[in-house]
Amino acid sequence: MLDITPMPATDVAAADLAHHLHPFADMKELVDGGVRVMTRGEGCYVYDSDGKRYLDAFAGLWCVNVGYGRREIADAVFAQMNALPYYNTYFATTTTATARLAEKICSYAGPAINRVFFTNSGSEANDTWLRMARVYWATLGKSEKSVVIARQNAYHGSTVAGASLGGMKHMHEQGNLPIPGIVHIGQPYWYGEGGDLAPAEFGLARARELEDKILELGPERVAAFVAEPIQGVGGVIVPPETYWPEIQRICRKYDILLAVDEVITGFGRLGSWFGYQHYGLEPDFCAIAKGLSSGYLPIAGVMVSDRVADVLVNQAGPFHHGFTYSGHPVAAAAALANLRILEEERLVERVRDDIGPYFAQAWRGLSDHVMVGEAVSVGLLGAVQLVLDKATRRRFSRPGDIGMVIRNFCIMRGVIVRASADRILVSPPFTISRSEVDDIVSTLRDVMDFVSAELS
Ligand code: PLP
Repeated sequence: MLDITPMPATDVAAADLAHHLHPFADMKELVDGGVRVMTRGEGCYVYDSDGKRYLDAFAGLWCVNVGYGRREIADAVFAQMNALPYYNTYFATTTTATARLAEKICSYAGPAINRVFFTNSGSEANDTWLRMARVYWATLGKSEKSVVIARQNAYHGSTVAGASLGGMKHMHEQGNLPIPGIVHIGQPYWYGEGGDLAPAEFGLARARELEDKILELGPERVAAFVAEPIQGVGGVIVPPETYWPEIQRICRKYDILLAVDEVITGFGRLGSWFGYQHYGLEPDFCAIAKGLSSGYLPIAGVMVSDRVADVLVNQAGPFHHGFTYSGHPVAAAAALANLRILEEERLVERVRDDIGPYFAQAWRGLSDHVMVGEAVSVGLLGAVQLVLDKATRRRFSRPGDIGMVIRNFCIMRGVIVRASADRILVSPPFTISRSEVDDIVSTLRDVMDFVSAELS
């Protein structure tokens, strides 16, 4: 019989620490420090087993965009579970939820994108378009056009290809990564790496590293360039305005496919359905995940441009790639219910016209703080850069320590934020109220006041 007797929270933590290997964790540290047992969520709040309430300014892991406790999604999942809990999409078969979801996603995508391939995770989505890009060029008789150019400090997931496309040094150091055929150029991180250049000049310079790399490799060898519209995990790095138009120009000039990784930015976070619309780009691939279902169930995918899809569909023959759960009907039903909420409550418009601008103003107000080098945001995605000295942009000697301290104090005070090196990141649900935005900003300010006083 299934044992669903609730365990006391201390037993849960003990069982977890004894048997569960956590992602991106130093397990020894976790075992020593303990684990928090989360029990429920409502709106923008989550609760732990002690009954402590937290304002989740990080929407889970950049994903719970419609907030917690949405009955509509639970009902849609329950109905689909009862009707058909699973069927594959391999045997010339589909399900209503899968087909309707593909159609719905394309309805937001603009005229040049009309196909979706479903995966379970953002990492798999990146693996998928990488293979598609190579199949595309091989079908056109250019199999040597196979190298992908990515960026340092990017995050594209944890599979072997995803981690290779990503530009995280600590990930590459584990497991002989990156795999061959993937190379990296610099990131458009003006505050940290711009030196004396004005942001616009720096944006152009970093974009032109792509051109230099293409010319070094030879355009006939380069299949694609991949980037997040705004780097998320790397620190919410908002590129200078000159960056993306130049990247698009270069991709067109050398006939390089453009893959945007919209696992975080997709489905409204920047106040547009997709980040490529915000930046006026025409990508060939768009990786999607998180906000597609607001994290209620795992589902992800790759949106494919007509240019590429026409070749894959009409000329390439079978594509030997897929996942047992590609287009899973229950996950698709959750995603459809989530998208219905976004539409009915006009949440993407809310991010663009109402709460996004309110958040931007409140967030930017933090830039007068002595510890803050820059406070940036687009839509409901924000970061503050912590610095030792504002005037010289001097950083703390051990990157990450101070970010962790600030993050931990914020969580102790009931507001969940994330730290990436010495940047504090927020990505709240789209339903967040103005007073909840004020709570996030004032808690962070109080914590920084406290920490800066301790440091001086
Ligand atoms: N790409 C980006 C931009 C991400 O932020 C993430 C996860 O945070 C991924 C890919 C990987 O997605 P997943 O964890 O679903 O594999």
